[in-house]
Amino acid sequence: MGKTEFKAESKRLLDLMINSIYSQREVFLRELISNASDAIDKIYYKALTDEKLRFDPEDYYIKVDANKDRRILTITDTGIGMTKEELEKNLGTIAKSGSLSFKNENEIKDGHDIIGQFGVGFYAAFMVADVVTVISRSLGSEEAYKWESQGSDGYTIETTEKETVGTEVILKIKESTEEESYDEFLEEYRLKDIIKKYSDFIRYPIKMDVTERKLKEGSDDEYEDIIEEQTINSMVPIWRKNKKELTDEDYQNFYQEKRYGFDKPLKHIHVSVDGTIRYNAILYIPENRPVDYYSQDYEKGLELYSNGVLIMEKCSDLLPDHFSFVKGLVDSEDLSLNISREMLQHDRQLKLIAKNISKKIKSQLLSLQRDEREQYEKFYDAFGRQLKFGVYNEFGANKDVLKDLLMFYSSKEKKLVTLDEYVSRMPEDQKYIYYATGDSYEKIDKLPQTEMVADKGYEILYFTEEIDEFAIRMLVNYNDKEFKSVSSGDLGIDSEETKESEKEDTENKDLFDYMKEVLSNKVKDVRVSKRLKTHPVCLSADGDISIEMEKVINAMPD
Ligand code: ADP
Ligand code: MG
Repeated sequence: MGKTEFKAESKRLLDLMINSIYSQREVFLRELISNASDAIDKIYYKALTDEKLRFDPEDYYIKVDANKDRRILTITDTGIGMTKEELEKNLGTIAKSGSLSFKNENEIKDGHDIIGQFGVGFYAAFMVADVVTVISRSLGSEEAYKWESQGSDGYTIETTEKETVGTEVILKIKESTEEESYDEFLEEYRLKDIIKKYSDFIRYPIKMDVTERKLKEGSDDEYEDIIEEQTINSMVPIWRKNKKELTDEDYQNFYQEKRYGFDKPLKHIHVSVDGTIRYNAILYIPENRPVDYYSQDYEKGLELYSNGVLIMEKCSDLLPDHFSFVKGLVDSEDLSLNISREMLQHDRQLKLIAKNISKKIKSQLLSLQRDEREQYEKFYDAFGRQLKFGVYNEFGANKDVLKDLLMFYSSKEKKLVTLDEYVSRMPEDQKYIYYATGDSYEKIDKLPQTEMVADKGYEILYFTEEIDEFAIRMLVNYNDKEFKSVSSGDLGIDSEETKESEKEDTENKDLFDYMKEVLSNKVKDVRVSKRLKTHPVCLSADGDISIEMEKVINAMPD
């Protein structure tokens, strides 16, 4: 029996494929399981229009079997199978996707469940196997065929026996060498992990024989290994379920299962969008800050799924930096993937989704702030600094998105307040939003500079973090009210004291000139203060930068 060679270009392409398309070997299983799922889907679609065909979900499954001793891994499906011609066409031609043709021929517009489209995934098997054998019997056929290949030198096809319709893909797993080990792909726990990771939401059961150590019957200290067939995947992704049927606990469990964090999520956001771009998303606002959050080790991003199949574990483009604390996933049918399905071809869809998601996160945070203040304060305690950085970074490009999410400690309320709350209760004669900077609330309370403003009955925002004032300077104003440091030269408060002090300034000119001379390098001017009540003297900043900002700037490396 002659061997049919791959065409020359195909040979090179195959080598390229096997060695450079995928960054991780383990995805071979994702690809083979995707094909199996597609094959079952095809029967499902056929049954929709063919009255003689019944689709009983119980009959359809995918099975993964590992035989360690023989180094054989088998992926079996009860799908539509392949005829001899289809084996040649689909597996003998690289980049020929039978699934894509199927979608076109059957005019399945909404056949978005069928995953295949590039006609290369199958060859990923050669990353881990020296020999790949495919035994297949097509729906409506009595004959079965065996396709076999060792990679780039071609394939053989011969007739064989197979009792049921479907396909078996048999991999002879490569021998491990000193540099490379392939043994993991025969280990039960590892296979389970890979299935869970990439194929958890394949809609048909993926079964495996799993060894469980159990107490021997009638004994309380003797154990035995029992082999049990288990379904590994959870099949229906939580984000495709009806929101009304899901409880808070379901979302919490999912958060934990996914290991998004060890805490309980503070809030979940379940989004289903069916507009110009379709996607589902489950997003979480964590309660606690991850230990590495403000370090360079922290990687932001959401999981990205295409049709229930994991494409990227941390897609950073989906989250702006100021919401980098958000965890969760996005699943979309409308992504144009590149050939390895690890990356996207266009980022237009992604940008749209990202924009959309950002809006949802913001509105969710605002409603938390409005309706569940205590929860919001918890959130703000953990991630508020990131929002302030967000206002400041990128030259304030995001300040309008973020300004309403900011909160600062108020001298009057003795708790965190929003800028809106501050401005809405400003007395009519108050021109500015006043703030004072210092290391702690207690220290600011004692600042002489706060006296005059407080005496006027005005509220003061306390800034205790270095970023606070930088962020506020970037904002410039809120609802047309400018921010003003209590230590700035002109506080904008007209009063009797103002006129009084001007008079005193002229009267005491000689004294002040003398003091200025003595303090020559340390101060720019000595004047009668308009703001002191009980303190004899205070320092105030002249010009644009407050004393605290000066300290920060001076401490910055050049
Ligand atoms: P894709 O899935 O992107 O189409 P693959 O290289 O993974 O590309 O598979 C090529 C083609 O081979 C598929 O489109 C399908 O027609 C066929 N095929 C692969 N595996 C199976 C299977 N288990 N059952 C039926 N057909 C299959
Ligand atoms: Mg495929």
